[in-house]
Amino acid sequence: MYWYDTRGVWMRYRPDAIYVWQDPDVRRRLSWYYAVMTDEKPAKFMIVRRIDAGEDPSKLDTDTLWELHDKLSREARRLWRLAQSDKFGWRELKEMPEPRHSFLDVKVELAYRMLRSCIFCERRCRIDRTKGKIGVCRLDDKVYVHSWFHHLGEEAPLVPSGTIFYGGCNFRCVYCQNWDISQENVRGGVVVDAAKLAKIQKELRITGARNINHVGGEPTPNIHVILESLKYLDVNVPQLWNSNMYLTVEAMKLILDVIDIWLPDFKYGNDRCALRLSAAPRYFEVVTRNLRMAAEYGDMIIRHLVLPNHLECCTKPVLKWIADNLPRDKILVNIMDQYRPEYLVARYPHRWPDIARRPTREEIEEAYEYARKLGLRFEPVS
Ligand code: SF4
Repeated sequence: MYWYDTRGVWMRYRPDAIYVWQDPDVRRRLSWYYAVMTDEKPAKFMIVRRIDAGEDPSKLDTDTLWELHDKLSREARRLWRLAQSDKFGWRELKEMPEPRHSFLDVKVELAYRMLRSCIFCERRCRIDRTKGKIGVCRLDDKVYVHSWFHHLGEEAPLVPSGTIFYGGCNFRCVYCQNWDISQENVRGGVVVDAAKLAKIQKELRITGARNINHVGGEPTPNIHVILESLKYLDVNVPQLWNSNMYLTVEAMKLILDVIDIWLPDFKYGNDRCALRLSAAPRYFEVVTRNLRMAAEYGDMIIRHLVLPNHLECCTKPVLKWIADNLPRDKILVNIMDQYRPEYLVARYPHRWPDIARRPTREEIEEAYEYARKLGLRFEPVS
């Protein structure tokens, strides 16, 4: 455990970050994350790094590489299940020889090939980012990190969270609170390569972070460098994916084997609201598909931001879908009440009058009551 440097600070501001682990139900729901966080178990990326690919991925054509990827993914999943049931741990991991070409190398190779006709997310821009072309996310092939620090405002089990804010986003949320880095000054900040990103993660962990929280903007357009950084990361730390979950199936497959805990943002209960407020087509189909995939493979805290006047069209359908389709006894839900008009809504409130105010206490209480009726666990994670 590495929490000594910052412990005084975060204990003062977030004592719930300690008490939350005295709740056996939270411990059970986040059991994998807890085991990695406390170094009882190796993070998934460490397991993936020890799986032998057998061949040099750079020499294989892309179809063969995907076949190899999917075969190795089954092996990664098998080892992860064994790790969950205490039949695979540090000792067994150390006994595995370090392969010349690992499963992680296969992922990195595929990610860089995808970058040449980018389909990391369902925008499917298919542009060659290595040639400086810019897609909807406004990013070329570089990774722009705007800040990294111990975040004390995340959900209690995550604090202090080693948060890395990447520039750029594939959504166009008119109320975005991080609009400066997601929409406007996207390619500001510091350009980081994989080695530098690994160094940042290590620094965050050894100074007290419980996890590495990849966020933005949106982490999805940066998958290539995030995956590559895991080749150089030499400390154990849970990898957390804090995302709008608008990834393609291909991108999901690349990260499924290395993410220990998911922090998806499930915003809309229908495509009409998603298109109008985030310019995201096919939202509901894409996000629910990815949530199903992620829930099978790692722990999960789902965030839902309550928008004013969107209880019937968004909040209730989102909560109902979670209750009906995901393992209710395993998932935690954070129903967020902090919406305030920002960015374009603050500048032109007459264009989005429905969300030009904060949600009322009655709306928030109604959302809580609805979640309670559905049997969702939404406290005390925030
Ligand atoms: S990450 Fe998404 S938005 Fe960005 S270039 Fe790739 S497909 Fe387009």
